[in-house]
Amino acid sequence: MDIMPTLFIGHGSPMNTLEHNAFTESWRIMGEALPRPRAILVVSAHWFIGSTVVTAMPNPRTIHDFYGFPQALFDVQYPAPGSPELAQEIAEVVKPNWVGADIDQWGFDHGTWSVLKHMYPDADIPVVQLSINSQKPMDYHIKLGARLAELQKSGVLILASGNVVHNLRAIDWHNPESGFDWAYRFDEAAEELLTSNPGDVLRLMDHPDYAKAVPTPDHFIPLLYTATIAAQNSKLSSFAKGVVVGSISMTSYSSGLAA
Ligand code: ZN
Repeated sequence: MDIMPTLFIGHGSPMNTLEHNAFTESWRIMGEALPRPRAILVVSAHWFIGSTVVTAMPNPRTIHDFYGFPQALFDVQYPAPGSPELAQEIAEVVKPNWVGADIDQWGFDHGTWSVLKHMYPDADIPVVQLSINSQKPMDYHIKLGARLAELQKSGVLILASGNVVHNLRAIDWHNPESGFDWAYRFDEAAEELLTSNPGDVLRLMDHPDYAKAVPTPDHFIPLLYTATIAAQNSKLSSFAKGVVVGSISMTSYSSGLAA
């Protein structure tokens, strides 16, 4: 089997689940363009906890991890099966790192289902989520990503869901479809690096706009996984470029499709 491409999706607002816009359309098209995965491993910005854990239950629940949104968003379900088998494979492939098996704590959060609702609306491909360990240095995520890359060879789609620029305090609601200069600068620097040398992704931390673009690491760390995985065997290309509400980049990346 060919190597499955890997993806980074800039997921933005949970409302994208219910909307049809240029970003969600690009996710739908990507779902159709990819070879059908045997399973999907999602690294979501919204499972940012003090340990490294993978969902290992056969039927993960849909988690509505937000407040103040319309009821229609709380009614969304994403009933894809889990995969205890893939959870076990992950535990093996990341050794000597340790990954715990979550059987009753988490499930699918909106970082996962807001995107998969568009990519795979039938919810018929098994999905597991990997937590982001908030206690570990950036380098840990690079090493873990490099080990997870092995799963691409057996048809697992590794999808990281975050946002390259994600500053909630700086959001400008009067500016729904564009961004601040610093947001564009960082987003463009990220694209330049990721499309040429994805393995050097940590150099973005030295960018003068890093502190504004990445005030907290939760939405940035998923990018480290995609960049590191892509660096093993291919490069990244961007799709669905854009900055919304001033300070959220929606830019997404895929590996391997151009070959
Ligand atoms: Zn988010």
